[in-house]
Amino acid sequence: MARHFELSPMGERPDDLCLLSEEEPDGRPALRPQYRPFQCRKCGRVDEVACFRQGLPDDFRGPVALDASYTVGEWVHVWSRRLADVVLPLAADHLDVFELPGDPKYVVPWPRRMFEPPPDTRVCTPIEPGAPGEPFQFRSRPCRKCGRRWSTFVSESFVVPDDVVLAAVGIYFADGVARSLTWIVNEEIAQRVSAAELNNVKVANAFSARAP
Ligand SMILES: [Zn+2]
Repeated sequence: MARHFELSPMGERPDDLCLLSEEEPDGRPALRPQYRPFQCRKCGRVDEVACFRQGLPDDFRGPVALDASYTVGEWVHVWSRRLADVVLPLAADHLDVFELPGDPKYVVPWPRRMFEPPPDTRVCTPIEPGAPGEPFQFRSRPCRKCGRRWSTFVSESFVVPDDVVLAAVGIYFADGVARSLTWIVNEEIAQRVSAAELNNVKVANAFSARAP
């Protein structure tokens, strides 16, 4: 039975540190113009990979003191190149990394395999707890234009398929422009990352559910 681990950024998530958005004159963040073609005009959520392929902004720089990984305001994760260099040799077919031209020691990682709430996920009120063993809950109706919706995820109830090398679970928060990812890695990657002793990345045994 394969064992899997969660790889999560431990760096702070400064609310005002935006990657895909910028501050409008009125102080509110808005998606940068180059990414607006990839945004749903109804709910505002984006096709992340289309944005990343367009090229990440030249003027983006992360917080200086963080070593391995952190999260930006839109919930996108940023990894140091050192962390990517540990993971990539073991997961080259499973992971894309996008360059940050203004901060070349960092990259934006994105999984090639993504788990999302299945269509038959239960629709709950915003505060209703998940049922035992239930990994996903829908918390809103689907966007009438793109179908995306606010969801929640319980990692302890998620059964990771045995063949996962590296993947992620992606859900949209209520106000999320991009998906929030829960990274899943196999035991070998988890061990290499732990052995690299990087700051600001956590390797945890988050997936305890087993297939019935
Ligand atoms: Zn939409």
